[in-house]
Amino acid sequence: MSEAKLGPAPRVTVRAPAKINLHLGVGRPRPDGMHPLSTVYQAVGLYDDITVTDAPDWSVGLTAAVDGVPLDDTNIAIRAGRALVKHHGISAAARITIAKCIPVMGGMAGGSADAAATLLALDRLWDLQTPDEELLQLASTLGSDVPFALLGGTAMGTGHGQLVSAVTDRTSVWWVVVLSDDGLSTPAVYRHFDELSPDAPNEPPVPEELLEALAEGYADEVGDLLSNDLWEAARDLRPDLVDVETKLRTMGADGVLLSGSGPTLLMLHDNVDAARSAAAEVAALGYRCALAPGPVAGAHVVTYA
Ligand code: ATP
Repeated sequence: MSEAKLGPAPRVTVRAPAKINLHLGVGRPRPDGMHPLSTVYQAVGLYDDITVTDAPDWSVGLTAAVDGVPLDDTNIAIRAGRALVKHHGISAAARITIAKCIPVMGGMAGGSADAAATLLALDRLWDLQTPDEELLQLASTLGSDVPFALLGGTAMGTGHGQLVSAVTDRTSVWWVVVLSDDGLSTPAVYRHFDELSPDAPNEPPVPEELLEALAEGYADEVGDLLSNDLWEAARDLRPDLVDVETKLRTMGADGVLLSGSGPTLLMLHDNVDAARSAAAEVAALGYRCALAPGPVAGAHVVTYA
């Protein structure tokens, strides 16, 4: 997250990555309704770019129309901007423009990426010099996945996902990201998980074997250890995903995974050529897909002028 302090600028663009969960262990909801998580996040190379400029009032726009992204005060990017201004006790506002590549309601935390990118972009726009720890704390008030979008790389997430700490990951892999035309509501998937899992633990365990495979750099072992407690619930809510998953499993990938709460599906490959061939196969079946390397950096400034 830390970057050289560059001074104020009239326009700043920050790029923030999508996330996937190599492991998503979900526990029984707490009295506040939040689910305890034990998750291993990885930032992957699908990005939203957020550009901010000083303005008399808050507003948000998209560089190209995308269904499902609110263009009013409920957009999480505006909520992030307002939170930063409040934190510093300053009076300021901005025009926020989003170039969206991360699928909406795809289980890849696109909204969280936009929130993280906005925090960083406005911090640089106004030269607020917010310490990293304060940015992470502010991020956690906006959503469970927002701190990780700042951190990037590969990280363990605990609490309800907001407590992040980097883990050693010596793998360098390629994901075939299989997109779905319809989104899946994250709260609906968690609600169905609760129905299916009355005996979920209070503290989901840390996936030690996966952490070791990442530290050793064994992508094939990582592929065998991918897991997602929300998968059964997502399959129930979207039975069409089962057919897609079955086809992906015949294609020789090192692993197949549901991204977060879905419906995006992922295939793991340890080299780009294998990923390219698999993507061509997926496209030939009529599914939209993208290629993304992992792990990649968290939110970072790309244009500063
Ligand atoms: P997660 O995996 O974190 O639950 P997701 O990737 O499934 O998220 P998002 O694309 O982050 O889903 O969007 C979730 C909801 O947030 C959508 O219903 C959308 O209307 C709302 N939203 C608010 N701001 C944004 C934004 N900047 N980009 C996308 N969605 C946004």
